[in-house]
Amino acid sequence: MRKLERTDLSLYTLALLAKRTEEIAAAEEPGAEARRLWERKDKAASKEIRDTLRAMASGRERCMYCEDSAAKDIEHFWPKARYPLRTFDWFNYLLACGDCNSNHKRTRFPLDESGAPLLIDPTVDEPTEHLELSPVTGRLAELTPKGAASIEVFGLNKRDSLVRGRQAAWRAIGRMLRDYDEFCTQGDWRGARQVKDDVCQTGFASVFVWFIRIATGPHAALYVQSGYLDSRCLAILEKYPDIKGWL
Ligand SMILES: [Zn+2]
Repeated sequence: MRKLERTDLSLYTLALLAKRTEEIAAAEEPGAEARRLWERKDKAASKEIRDTLRAMASGRERCMYCEDSAAKDIEHFWPKARYPLRTFDWFNYLLACGDCNSNHKRTRFPLDESGAPLLIDPTVDEPTEHLELSPVTGRLAELTPKGAASIEVFGLNKRDSLVRGRQAAWRAIGRMLRDYDEFCTQGDWRGARQVKDDVCQTGFASVFVWFIRIATGPHAALYVQSGYLDSRCLAILEKYPDIKGWL
């Protein structure tokens, strides 16, 4: 997961969401009313919400939780089955893949003692404060209880495709940075721009964030010694500091 910026919806859609929430609050059975209203969504508002979330997602509209699969589902961070008043809340919407949404999270939503969510919301939290990538194993390590709960609920280390995907993304970033340097050295700006686009489109966007963090951090030399980081990449990041801001 990486930090994503939530953008604005039109006033039309925000007003519609507020109206739906008022209707649910006034209903005798808020849960049933939320389900009924969710089924008969306003087409224009739904399209705007989906399009806005797609633009907020990383790369080729990857899932905001696992960063691997195509994000198809509008996901309620606070599950609508348990919190019907959050059914039409823009700040409760994320875009997730079916595996994260329907197979892993479902209605699981652990809270801490103060009642705050124990899952990472990538539009609110800075995920790298809660999770750390090991480029050696491709697994995520928890830095906080929120990180631990997120790993468990979304199966972020249990799903082999995610673990292998992160390892492959780490290696690909090294190759892409070397290509970038080669294109720039040859004055092939089209090729260099293409590499930048490829980095921005690739899955597992947070691996790039961790790559930069590790390569520019105090332990970079250890990763070079153990063969998980090419020393050329360190020089490339120094030569082209703008790379750090690509995502
Ligand atoms: Zn997912």
